Amino acid sequence: SAAELTAEYLETGTLEGLPNGHFIDGAFSRPVHNRSMESLDPGSAKAFASFTAGTEADVDDAVSSARKAFDTSWRDVLPVERARILLRASQLILENIDRLAIVECLDSGKPLNEAMGDVRGAARTFEYYAGACDKLQGDSFPLGPDYLGYSIHEPVGVTAHIIPWNFPISTAARGFAPALAAGCAVVAKPAEQTPFTALMLAEVLSQAGLPHGLCNVLTGTGQEVGAPLTRHTGVDHITFTGSVLTGSTVMKTAADDITRVVLELGGKSPVVVMKDCDKDKTVAGVLGAIYEHAGQICSAGSRLIIDKAIHDEFLEKLVAKTKALSLGHGLRDPNVGPVNSAQHLDKINGFLDRAKARGLNIVAGGNVTVDPETGAGWFFEPTIVDGVDQADELAQEEVFGPVLTVQVADDADHAVALANDCQYGLVAGIFTRDFSAAHQMARQIDAGQIYINEYFAGGVEVPFGGNKKSGFGREKGIEGLKSYCKTKSVAAKI
Ligand code: NAD
Repeated sequence: SAAELTAEYLETGTLEGLPNGHFIDGAFSRPVHNRSMESLDPGSAKAFASFTAGTEADVDDAVSSARKAFDTSWRDVLPVERARILLRASQLILENIDRLAIVECLDSGKPLNEAMGDVRGAARTFEYYAGACDKLQGDSFPLGPDYLGYSIHEPVGVTAHIIPWNFPISTAARGFAPALAAGCAVVAKPAEQTPFTALMLAEVLSQAGLPHGLCNVLTGTGQEVGAPLTRHTGVDHITFTGSVLTGSTVMKTAADDITRVVLELGGKSPVVVMKDCDKDKTVAGVLGAIYEHAGQICSAGSRLIIDKAIHDEFLEKLVAKTKALSLGHGLRDPNVGPVNSAQHLDKINGFLDRAKARGLNIVAGGNVTVDPETGAGWFFEPTIVDGVDQADELAQEEVFGPVLTVQVADDADHAVALANDCQYGLVAGIFTRDFSAAHQMARQIDAGQIYINEYFAGGVEVPFGGNKKSGFGREKGIEGLKSYCKTKSVAAKI
């Protein structure tokens, strides 16, 4: 149970039975060069496990295993058989939820209940795409009495998945499930900060009956494993989730071989709050939007754009609630956990140091801190900065931490203008009771998804992806499934 695993970790500083090696061709395998890296627990800043640091030779192994499995065993398997395997995987994920969530919590730092939610979400993703395997229908085209025209969706082939550290199991699931449902093979590289749950997911898929070689996971650095994977000529499609900088490099690499890419990149998402909103629900919504996973969410609502008529009253409530949030090690399930690494903590703190030097109005938090119980870990106080100028770096750059900026808007048009004046376009939140105004703003804001009156509303059913520098292509939903398909159209004279 979660309690037993937590006790084991607190007593020994590690967990028994963590994956060891890459997962290639249906088994944990020894790497070609036997090197390892340490995995650090952000809540304590201590190493709790080690994992394999792969090389290009391991990438070659995994891609050829995936290619063989794709060519010989998967693309022609009955869709309903694929569905049954994915459904069993969904059930096995839930059977292993305690272990998966605790490992996710230790690797990423996120509070245990958030990690549990991510694991449940991963199971739901497999369930959803299991249901879609045998509904991937093509079209027929009206060419006239002497012709037959139709289209079919074929799997793209071997798919590479590069995964960031903030949502390891969720990102793996939202890539693996539709790729496998479409009939593709998978080679994935989780982030070096959070290697374990993607490996565990590959093992679960194997236990669910997935033929060997269809889901391979390699651990190691972006340079030594990620880059060789994205330039490998045996890869037909890349789903990259991470920073704009690396996404741009991946896209350039993919261009050399005309490899398909889906890019899920960063964000600086606005949360527009109008004066007629339900104040208490909106305060709760704004808090969740920025402080879940300590703000380390691509779609975090990090820019509050508030109707000037309610600025003072709303901010007072928001600041009081923010100051009351508990901080602590993820396993103790605080309101806010640590940030992922010492280096990332420095980056967040750099933004606040510069904001202080510019004399910005920090109305909550603003400092590096530690777990109040142990005095350890990498923590940043939940922070609100009021009166931020639109051109300020704090309103324009992704901080990827628990830092909310506040700007006032004169009216809905002004709010939309502020929301759109940004290089990113991942998501936007709108809080208002005015149905028409909400949907007008939803139309006008340039973002891949809009949440109205509940931030992060919707699940795997809803396509997700970015506009502008937040990337392109969509995951989740049936559109996410079609990302892993090639349309073939057939026109015949009969
Ligand atoms: P990152 O770009 O540094 O790393 C992401 C992944 O890319 C890691 O697995 C890393 O090892 C790998 N990588 C690094 N260099 C590579 C290279 N040259 N070739 C191939 N792979 C390489 O990003 P990060 O800091 O780990 O993640 C945070 C970023 O991810 C934020 O900007 C966040 O907004 C974004 N993100 C976006 C989404 C989304 O769905 N849009 C979801 C989560 C995170």
